[in-house]
Parts: sequence; C-alpha cells; structure tokens
Amino acid sequence: LSDRLTSTFRNLRTRGRLSEADIDATIREIRRALLDADVAVPVVRAFTGTVRERALSAEVSGALNPAQQVVKIVQEELVAILGGEQRPLRFAKRPPTVILLAGLQGAGKTTLAGKLGLHLRERGHTPLLVAADLQRPNAVTQLQVVGERAGVPVFAPHPGVQETAAGLVGTPGDPVGVAREGLAWAQERQHDVVIVDTAGRLGVDAEMMQQAADIRDAVDPDEILFVVDAMIGQDAVTTAQAFAEGVGFTGVVLAKLDGDTRGGAALSIASVTGSPVMFASTGEKLTDFEVFHPDRMASRILDMGDVLSLIEQAERAFDAEQAAKMAEKLVGGEDFTLDDFLVQVQGLRQMGSMKKMLGMLPGMAQMRDAIDSFDEREVDRIEAMVRSMTPAERANPKIINGSRRSRIARGSGTTVTDINQLLERFGQAQTMMRQVARGGGVPGMPGMPG
Ligand code: GDP
Ligand code: MG
Repeated sequence: LSDRLTSTFRNLRTRGRLSEADIDATIREIRRALLDADVAVPVVRAFTGTVRERALSAEVSGALNPAQQVVKIVQEELVAILGGEQRPLRFAKRPPTVILLAGLQGAGKTTLAGKLGLHLRERGHTPLLVAADLQRPNAVTQLQVVGERAGVPVFAPHPGVQETAAGLVGTPGDPVGVAREGLAWAQERQHDVVIVDTAGRLGVDAEMMQQAADIRDAVDPDEILFVVDAMIGQDAVTTAQAFAEGVGFTGVVLAKLDGDTRGGAALSIASVTGSPVMFASTGEKLTDFEVFHPDRMASRILDMGDVLSLIEQAERAFDAEQAAKMAEKLVGGEDFTLDDFLVQVQGLRQMGSMKKMLGMLPGMAQMRDAIDSFDEREVDRIEAMVRSMTPAERANPKIINGSRRSRIARGSGTTVTDINQLLERFGQAQTMMRQVARGGGVPGMPGMPG
C-alpha cells in the first residue's frame, strides 16, 4: 500500500497547481492502492469521496503547495478512520474495571488476555483473568498458562471441574456463572481490573453471540474489546458487524497485525465499526503488544520515510563502521579471522530486531521474508562455537584439527558436523573478504545462508 501511495504522491508533488483532472487521477490511484490492500469496497468509496471533496475545496486550491495539501488530507482522513486520537482504556470510577473480550475462535482473545494483563500489571494495576471460555477443550488451561507467564492470577471454574480432552467434566459448563463468580472473587480480593476471556466459534453463530451477550449482562463491562484477526481481510467487515449487533463493543483490538502485510483490514474494521482501534497484537509472545496510535499507523501507511531510515540504520550497522574497520585491517595485510566473522554474523541480530517493526508496515513482506531467512538460533550457535575456541584458533582456524573440533563441539553444545559447516562457511567468507580487500569493494554479508 505504501509503495503505491508514495509514487502517486511523488507524481503529485512535481505539480505546481492542481487541476481537477490531476486530483481525479490521484484519487483513482489511491482507490486502486486501497483495494489492492484489501480495504473493503464501501470503505474505499467513502474514503476517496471525502478526500476528493476536500481536495477540490478552497483549502487546497488556495494553498501554496496544493500537492502537499492533498497528502495531508489523505493522512488526516486515515487517522480519522483509525479512530482519531489514541483512545486509552476507560477505568471504572469504582473498581474493579471489567474488560470483556469478544471475537471469533482463534482471533487471539486468550493470548490478548495475557498481554493486556501484563501491560496493566506493569502499570501498577492488579488484574485478574477470568476463564469464561468453557467451550473449547483446554481453553481454561491455555488461559492459566498465559496468566502464569504474565504473572497475572487466573480465576478458573470450580475446583471440582476436571478438564479432559473431551472437554470439561464435573459440573456443566456455565460460562455466565464463572464470569459472575470471577467478578465477585475480584471484588473480594481487590483486583482493580477484571479481564473476562470468552468463547468463540469459527463462524458467527447465534448461540455464541447469545452467550457473550449473557456474560456481558452478568458482569456489566466498562469496556468490551472486539478482538479480530487482522489477516481475515474482507471477512473482517461482516464479522465486525455481526459482533457490533450481537454483543456491541467499545473498542477494537487488531490481532496478528504482524502477519498483515497489506494494512487493509485495520482500515476496514475501524471504518465500518466506527470504533477506535485501541491495541494491536503483533506476535505470539506476551510482549508482542502495542497501544495503537492511529496517527502513527497512518504515517506508516503513507510514509516510506520510516522504512528507509530503518534500512539505512541496518546498513550502517554493517557497512560504515565495520566495513571500514575491516577494510583497514585487510588492506593493512591482516587476515579476516573468526572473530571478524562473528562480528558480521552478530550484525544480523540488529536486523532481527527490526523484523517486527517491518511487519507493522504494509507492503514490507519481501523485506521481512529476507530477514526471516536469518535464523536467530543460528546466530546463537555460531556465537557459541566461536566462543568455545581459543584466541589462537580464532586467529588461525587452520590449526583446528580433529581433536580441537571435538573439544569445540563439546564446549559449545554442538556437533563436529556443525563445526565443519561453520569452518566451511568461514572459509568462503574469508575468500570473499580477500577478494574485497584486493578489489576495494564493500562486503555484503558473507557466509550467511539465504
Ligand atoms: P482465541 O481463540 O481468540 O482465544 O485465540 P488464541 O489467543 O487462542 O490465539 C489463536 C492462535 O493465534 C494461537 O496459536 C496464538 O498463538 C496465535 N496468536 C494470537 N495472537 C497473535 C498475534 O498477534 N500474532 C500471531 N502471529 N499469532 C497470534
Ligand atoms: Mg481463547
């Protein structure tokens, strides 16, 4: 999405005054870019309509730089769709604040319960998670595991209830009762926030909606968060509408935004429901969680500047400093050692930490895939192997004979085959570096797969 919009705007920027035809051509491009990004058709229509109207108005034609005005309008309208200002959680005047999670099965509710619990705990709250999903086998256990990781207590169905592969046995599953009891328990123990995890189905169905509505009525939530898989594309709209009617919600959580390379679902859901996007879930780990900032998302969609600076940063991590140092060494007649090799491999870690950020950026799938092919664990392994070598071995790998290989493998928890592979890869990198030293070019990432 960004790519397309960027070039559209680049064309526009070269114009001094904008004719109606210029604006229409731009709007057509924006429409195409949004549709390609899987933004729902009615949303695209409304969006481009508003932008066109504003672009044709006096606010643009009277401006010094009309093209920039159009870009600004697009940005503002994107922010507006995404909910405008960042919308914080509304806490109850009298605790506990009750947060109900609703959404389809697999959307990411249970995972989110843990993330939100951790987020709140880190901010001095004392949340309680309530396991009111009694539908799916293991749902209760899953919440307990998530809660334990987050350091947040979990209220689960009565101790008499046994969970088996066949579901819950003991008392009949009563999610409404569990929710009610969970709330009472929280009041007693003075938890200031209660997060109620509910069941979902694969598709929208009346029974599930009714159950969620019954839980809602039982606990009278301060916030109902609709958790939606950002990857479901056009389906997002119908699902969101069904939940809006069946249960109602006060905010949206975009889950799996790490996998959404096109950025379209965020726009559609936010636009159709008119509810603010409050949080984003960006991975399977507890810390893959963000407070959602509409303006930042809009800028990310529009502006490649962010991406470019990230890429530059990564390039700097390798090139500028290290390549210069390395080149100096090599030109000075010194050889490329295993220590040098390790430094290069470690540079990849910085790329790894950029991965998530890139995932947030629509249209960055390719870049992310490239980084994906570097395995963090591989870097760890290489590091362990090099660290298990003596300084003499690192400086002069030729002396690493069979018995040294076994020793290094033992020391680093790897196998002799791993050591052989490392040395082979190092040999290739060394050859390449020697060529570079002779030719004076800047190395890429020698020795890495992919
Ligand atoms: P629920 O059925 O709505 O409770 O969904 P879960 O929390 O059980 O999540 C379903 C699956 O999606 C699990 O395998 C999670 O690990 C995964 N998941 C949840 N949130 C995210 C996310 O933000 N990114 C990714 N990549 N996976 C997620
Ligand atoms: Mg769940």
